Amino acid sequence: MKSPARSLLCLLAIVAPLPAWGASPGPISLPTVNDHLYHGGGDKFYMFVHRNFEGQASRAWTAGKYGFVRNLKRTEDGLIGTRFHEGIDIKPIKRDRSGKPLDEVVAIAPGVIAYTNMSSSRSNYGKYVVVEHLWGCGPVFSLYAHLSDVAVKAGQRVTQGQSLGKLGYTGAGISRERAHLHLELNLLLSTRFSVWHDKHFGTKNYHGKHNGINMAGLDIAAFYMAQQRNKSLTLPGFAQTIPVHYKVTVPRHGPLEMVTRYPWLARGDHRSRSPSWEISFSASGFPLVVSPSSRAVSEPRVSSIRQCRSKHEYRTKGFISGTGYRATLSKTGKRFIELVTGTF
Ligand SMILES: [Zn+2]
Repeated sequence: MKSPARSLLCLLAIVAPLPAWGASPGPISLPTVNDHLYHGGGDKFYMFVHRNFEGQASRAWTAGKYGFVRNLKRTEDGLIGTRFHEGIDIKPIKRDRSGKPLDEVVAIAPGVIAYTNMSSSRSNYGKYVVVEHLWGCGPVFSLYAHLSDVAVKAGQRVTQGQSLGKLGYTGAGISRERAHLHLELNLLLSTRFSVWHDKHFGTKNYHGKHNGINMAGLDIAAFYMAQQRNKSLTLPGFAQTIPVHYKVTVPRHGPLEMVTRYPWLARGDHRSRSPSWEISFSASGFPLVVSPSSRAVSEPRVSSIRQCRSKHEYRTKGFISGTGYRATLSKTGKRFIELVTGTF
């Protein structure tokens, strides 16, 4: 007969949570003096976007939030944003008499400068800095865009709170009035991004793997708030709270680079000889889970999607076409899956 202690141990083994990937060195801190996020957020924290919807002009601060907050559309599901904003737009607090923003931009956590783009014209981000953080869960990248000045160089170590440069309005379509810091927290999709880019685009990629297209961003504002409630919350722990919007089954050609880099994405027995992988994504294409699948496919297929009445393209960055249970990868969706799976 089993002893009670042994039974309890067995039970613990069954209900044990996932391994504690990513012991963060501490909670992330805000990148500027604007701390209104912790006091209600709203228009004191987020920079507005000039919106013109159905003939009504407005200054929509909600369009500075992360998510599907831009390009409003009336659909069968009501009014929804169809354009995704991968980061948050933080308003400056200090300006000089001419209106020039003066806020210092600082690292949200210790790390190493992975990349700096000093040329405003080479990216919609304008001048931007990418900091790589090692939190024990694979490399995580914070990205600071539209800077007026960059104070760091690639390869340099930075401490939490160390200056990276000055908030500005470099990049596409930003005026001095709308100067802000665009902040992202990202996973890297592929180390071979440049090859993929050159295959699909005629334009020059100046930024190597640190191009925004190669970064999958999560809702950093929600992560700040969640860490306020739970100081030891890790990024993989936070990622578990993001809803799955769709799943794509892909032929298995060996291990996925994404899973090697971010082992916490793996569920199920990855040593099994399954013919495919099933990858779960958030609506924005943030990878959440990779599981072996027994369903054989000859090319990537949408295997499930959250149901809504309007077109799937509105809620998936255009990666998925169709409505209802008819859901297929669009041309851009196929390209995206190529990047995520390294099949290019
Ligand atoms: Zn932005």
